[in-house]
Amino acid sequence: MDAETLRAVYARLLDAFGEQDWWPAQTAFEVMIGAILTQNTAWTNVERALERLRSRIPLDAESILALDPPELADALRPSGYFNVKSQRVRGLCEAYLQAGGHRGLDALTTPELRARLLAIKGIGPETADDILLYAFDRPVFVVDAYTRRIFERLGLLAGGETYEGIRRAFEQALGPDVPMLKEYHGLIVSQGKEVCRTRPACERCALRRTCAAAAASPSDSSTPSRPSQQRRRGTTASEETP
Ligand code: SF4
Repeated sequence: MDAETLRAVYARLLDAFGEQDWWPAQTAFEVMIGAILTQNTAWTNVERALERLRSRIPLDAESILALDPPELADALRPSGYFNVKSQRVRGLCEAYLQAGGHRGLDALTTPELRARLLAIKGIGPETADDILLYAFDRPVFVVDAYTRRIFERLGLLAGGETYEGIRRAFEQALGPDVPMLKEYHGLIVSQGKEVCRTRPACERCALRRTCAAAAASPSDSSTPSRPSQQRRRGTTASEETP
């Protein structure tokens, strides 16, 4: 994947969807909690769980750890897999405080911070990169199921590449442009959720003229319409299984 191609895809998606302004959260800590809660569920469920938790306690690590584990699990119920996720949230809060909170973690280099996050039970590469990019402004590219699907259909991924291989290829091509990396991931989710679905809507896709999969589609000759610009998190935002 070369920089010119990836930037062209970015420009078309940005033109089609507008700025996504990700991540939808009030604080960096909320990004971290949301990154766990979004595993295998729609973002609307994460919002409900966060709102439910926020209605009971302040959204900080100390307050979460002071909550009885069953109460925490109940608060997180709308996000699904709430017993597993509540354990993961507690593990994240413990590691967060042990490291000295946001300031302590932010003092680490990006490889050190990634390793620290990956050492927390239930945090895999995608969740760690969500946190690195959106909570700590580190120049990493988040690879999710939508990324694989869209770029395989475009003919830019062969399929079967490792998470790390895809991440490095994007990062090398795009460079350490944090705002762009944030925006790009948000645009990919919108594209995967609204247009390049399991059954793709190629007739209204901004990428169809250069898409290998669309070339064989009968809808290739039709005129694209502008997709919704409503900001949202994906239904398969994270592949990491609770
Ligand atoms: S043209 Fe079709 S297959 Fe290609 S990226 Fe767009 S929606 Fe997906």
